Amino acid sequence: MTSAASPSTFNDLGLIPELQARLTDLEYSQPTPIQAKAIPSVLAGSDLIAGANTGSGKTATFALPMLQTLFLEQSTKKAASKGNFVTGLILVPTRELATQVADSVKSYSANFNGAIKTVAVFGGVSVNTQMQALRGGADIIVATPGRLLDLISSNAIKLDKVKTLVLDEADRMLSLGFTEELAELLALMPAKKQTMLFSATFPEQVKQLTQELLTNPVEIQVQSKGESTLVQRVFTVNKGEKTTVLAHLIKQHQWRQALIFVNAKKDCEHLVSKLEKRGVNAQVFHGDKGQSERTRVIEKFKAGEIEVLIATDIAARGLDIAKLPVVINFNLPRSPADYMHRIGRSGRAGEVGLALSLIDYEDFHHFRIIEKKNKLRLEREEVAGFTVNQANHDAADALKNDKPMAKPEGTGKKKKKKANQEDDVWSGWRKSK
Ligand code: AMP
Repeated sequence: MTSAASPSTFNDLGLIPELQARLTDLEYSQPTPIQAKAIPSVLAGSDLIAGANTGSGKTATFALPMLQTLFLEQSTKKAASKGNFVTGLILVPTRELATQVADSVKSYSANFNGAIKTVAVFGGVSVNTQMQALRGGADIIVATPGRLLDLISSNAIKLDKVKTLVLDEADRMLSLGFTEELAELLALMPAKKQTMLFSATFPEQVKQLTQELLTNPVEIQVQSKGESTLVQRVFTVNKGEKTTVLAHLIKQHQWRQALIFVNAKKDCEHLVSKLEKRGVNAQVFHGDKGQSERTRVIEKFKAGEIEVLIATDIAARGLDIAKLPVVINFNLPRSPADYMHRIGRSGRAGEVGLALSLIDYEDFHHFRIIEKKNKLRLEREEVAGFTVNQANHDAADALKNDKPMAKPEGTGKKKKKKANQEDDVWSGWRKSK
């Protein structure tokens, strides 16, 4: 994979004035590395494979060239009549991502006076509304695979004329078991098309997809801009004290918003009521909630109307919450990859972010695995006023022969931080800001 090119201007990338003006309105001052590197090749028709996370600016990377090509084809009347055919197809793993990506595509095409129609289709909501939205066809569809297949089988949409296919979060899609649905969808599309594949990691299944789907692709590997601006901290907490510590941190730091991860739906509800007893209001976000409730909660959280959100891993991927100040792992995720996805909700698009993990002695071993898999080594800290007990020290001693792999991130020297030491890491996101 080649490294990312240095940023240029959107004009240099060959984007048409309508799109450039829109990007100026959105205050995108310059392309992100992935945009700078990929957009010219994608405009020229190349396939693309990108190792990129959300936060790197990847949505615009595929959406802008897609929109430009479609818009120019429409103006020169090259575009086929829509009927129930779609030209641009973006496949995503989750409902929230479908809405988010479709909203971005619509926003980027705001200067096209309605010439390009984008529709999001995903499960969990009425199929009729989506069928209505698809009436008269759509230029771009952003879809989760299952619902798209439903709509195809009821003849609401046809894939025979797909010219551009985007597989977003391909690793996630395959880990969620979409393999068969993807194969079914691919069989319905023309073999000759432009394909772009985005994946944070490249497990065997993704590599196989790459070989089957892409022709001489441009290959790009980028770090999410957010990753370098995200400070990670880990706090040792006595067993049974996590909720008290969490409530204390929330009250003390007055974060504008905090996204807190637990591992199970029932843990969400449980934690909300325990926080309430400690004077902290929170809401939940998990897979047992109906889709309209999920959408409502995310919207309120994004708007800052909900300050504390307790979520399962359905919130770990893809969600773009602008300037989310802090993500907290109340429970550690089982998979080290999910740790990275969770913390990636903060510190996005170059913003400063903070990721905290609360661990007790039962978590020590697992957290060490998370660190190793993600090539991290974080200093264990204590929360001021919550001295850790002997059980934690004993567990730490048991692991002491396991040498650090790198210096703790965001701390510089190896010097141990005092329990009551405050630093800039906490500030900057208070509600008053
Ligand atoms: P994405 O990786 O597509 O999820 O984008 C992450 C965030 O970065 C979104 O909020 C985008 O609106 C924003 N973004 C994308 N490209 C740029 C850019 N060139 N300049 C500033 N913000 C951007």
